[in-house]
Amino acid sequence: MIGFDLTREQKRLVEKARALVREEIIPRALEIDAQGDDRFDWSFAELLAKHNLLCPTIPREYGGLELNHLTTALLLEEIAQGCAGVATVLNTNIHAASPIVLAGTREQKEAFLPLLTSSQPALAAFALTEPSAGSDVGAISSLAEPDGDEYVITGTKDYILNASVASFFTVFACVTPIRNRASLRAFIIPASTPGLTLGRVRNKVGIRYANTSEVLLDGVRVSAYSMVGGNRSGSGYLLLTQTLDRGRALVGAVAVGIAQAAYNLALNHARTRIQFGKPIVKYQAVSFALAEMATKIELARLMTWKACWLIDRDQDHTTASSMAKWYASEVALEAASKAVEILGAGGYMANTLADKYSRDARVLATVEGTNNIQKAIIASLL
Ligand SMILES: Cc1cc2nc3c(=O)[nH]c(=O)nc-3n(C[C@H](O)[C@H](O)[C@H](O)COP(=O)(O)OP(=O)(O)OC[C@H]3O[C@@H](n4cnc5c(N)ncnc54)[C@H](O)[C@@H]3O)c2cc1C
Repeated sequence: MIGFDLTREQKRLVEKARALVREEIIPRALEIDAQGDDRFDWSFAELLAKHNLLCPTIPREYGGLELNHLTTALLLEEIAQGCAGVATVLNTNIHAASPIVLAGTREQKEAFLPLLTSSQPALAAFALTEPSAGSDVGAISSLAEPDGDEYVITGTKDYILNASVASFFTVFACVTPIRNRASLRAFIIPASTPGLTLGRVRNKVGIRYANTSEVLLDGVRVSAYSMVGGNRSGSGYLLLTQTLDRGRALVGAVAVGIAQAAYNLALNHARTRIQFGKPIVKYQAVSFALAEMATKIELARLMTWKACWLIDRDQDHTTASSMAKWYASEVALEAASKAVEILGAGGYMANTLADKYSRDARVLATVEGTNNIQKAIIASLL
């Protein structure tokens, strides 16, 4: 049997996150969202760093809170209710650190993980996608050529979250000219390494707090000790799938947060907007729409929790994680769209919460593997 009661620590964390969101994030979320990708406002990152929440999965011995995935999902849901861009920045840190936590050497952990747990905010980036390799990671063409005790990495990464503000990058590249999954390896590259530069800033329609840009790798020379997870055939691909399988459940949590925020906005409006002499929530068309939203959000949350629960028990979680990410991202989109409808004309106005939820929700079907890819994963494991 399992229960749904949160522990005292989890409740305390949720309360703390809720207060931070209410008092510090919501009042400035729209203003910062409007600034777009061109510049990064460190204030939210500073706020999270002050509470050691910028990468809460990091083990205690490296200064982190060592939150398990379920507790991290609770935190991400709360933060995403205030601003999905902020939740994405923190999720990207978790994602970039995950290969190091899973398979890094003690030296790698000591060198990089404490950066993300310091009260001085620091961010990291996860660089997998390339212009010709999106869903198809087997098409990655970045090459890490061995040269004595070093590797020289050349390639282009695109749509990389946190790129312009990252202290280090977790980069995937192939170690043989025959580029395929077997030759894929993960490297940790400090942002200051010569040859690593930023390309175009990617101006997004949503999650605009999270800065996104191209990363150019031109003869980036790193020590062989920068490789994470060993140098065996397939070791990089294995680490990648382990990271993505965990990350997808956490994208589910961000999606649930957006959906819940959209639902709250719509419910509040429906209770207070009077038409034909009564609140519009009294009309069945509106209340049924809200009932559907509430039910789907609950299901998305339970799927996310279950995927995290399996991850935390080290049980097979690939299918559950893909299902949670796919379903929750669809629910976020649907809830945001319903909220726009229930708010009437006000829901269609630019730079409002309803507008932000719709724009933020749209990306979730694409990141961490598109929803078609989630279906392909689920189908391959039937
Ligand atoms: C805002 C944002 C942030 C991102 N951040 C990062 C980041 O930090 N790091 C990183 O590495 N990447 C990042 N990405 C990239 C993201 O992971 C990719 O966009 C995603 O994997 C899809 O790749 P693609 O865009 O090239 O689409 P494509 O792979 O070209 O897919 C296009 C369409 O074809 C479909 N498709 C493709 N192959 C199949 C198939 N076999 N079966 C069925 N349908 C298929 C897809 O579902 C999709 O609908 C980010 C993307 C965005 C938009």
